[in-house]
Amino acid sequence: MALMEIEVGTLLTPEGAFENARLSLKGAGSLYAETALVPGFSDAHAHPQVVDYGGGRWSNAYEWMSGRRLKVDEAALRSDVELSSKLAAAAMLRELLDGVTMVAVVGRGEANLRAYRRLPAKPRLVVLPTILESAWGWLNAWNALNLVVSLTSLDGTVPVGLFAHSLGHVSPESLKSAYEAARALGVPFGLHLSEGVDELAKLVSLLGLKEGEDSGIIAVHCISGSGYKRYGIKVVHCPQSNMALYGWTLRDVSEVDALGSDWPLILGSALETYKAAVEIHGRDKALSLLKKATAGGYSIYNLDWEGDAVFFDEPLEIFLEGLAVPRFVAVTSELAVKERMVVGSGETRRYVERVVRELIKRAVDLYPAG
Ligand SMILES: [Zn+2]
Repeated sequence: MALMEIEVGTLLTPEGAFENARLSLKGAGSLYAETALVPGFSDAHAHPQVVDYGGGRWSNAYEWMSGRRLKVDEAALRSDVELSSKLAAAAMLRELLDGVTMVAVVGRGEANLRAYRRLPAKPRLVVLPTILESAWGWLNAWNALNLVVSLTSLDGTVPVGLFAHSLGHVSPESLKSAYEAARALGVPFGLHLSEGVDELAKLVSLLGLKEGEDSGIIAVHCISGSGYKRYGIKVVHCPQSNMALYGWTLRDVSEVDALGSDWPLILGSALETYKAAVEIHGRDKALSLLKKATAGGYSIYNLDWEGDAVFFDEPLEIFLEGLAVPRFVAVTSELAVKERMVVGSGETRRYVERVVRELIKRAVDLYPAG
């Protein structure tokens, strides 16, 4: 097999920084990069069918969910698997071009997997179909479980897990069955938690969690309360959507395991999330945030990052602030972005941004709310 040799000025990995490093990828030839990241950025929580959040300022997620005025009928949009899959594909390409090599998506599972299978170049994917029982158009625990089994047998290369929307929108019985099923199957289990209301004690009692034991739960937001680590709960921090909805976010990033864009079509990729996190928590936290923004997402989903790397022309100081866009991106040792274009399609960042805007407009035109 031919190998492409890459010389790197500064290579940053979870094990530390290395000067004048060498990497190799599948392919031929050679190239030089000022800085490189191994692995690339990870988006540990993305809704690739969210095209609008309704604006406004809220005190917690339940208030937002019941009071928001969306322009789009979300259930109708999700039931259009083709448009949902186009939205997911655009979100994945936007992430890839920004150096995001791993994305965990919630929302319409079939659409997300369809998007992934069609793309010529893409980040690694984790699919988490969402259980939500308080509104029409979502899955209950049994349907979600069936979907996990069928999607896994359909593809097999993409890990499929379960995502319970939240304690307030999933019944205690469904939450418990979904959690136990995920544990038995050994697949990831996530939920939105403590988004303006401290829900840790309730979760502990509903699922019978024990202090000091690893619950394996991936909890998104956790801006209220503390002590998640005592139960082995992995926290995904979504600073941008927290700021948009509530005007504040969690302060102690030592509780955070990974970062999530939440709404990649509206807020941008996990690179934008990382940039926002550095702005909010301070430049002195940049290195620790970078670790969470890269290896963090892989670790919480138990994914391997072998062959995933991102290459920049800019020096370390620039890209540590999230200000650099990569020139090359590799996923599983193959170039997925070359000279800032998607390999196999030639799409650029600007083109994908335009597609995102057009698809959002189409979604709102086809499925207006009310
Ligand atoms: Zn979310």
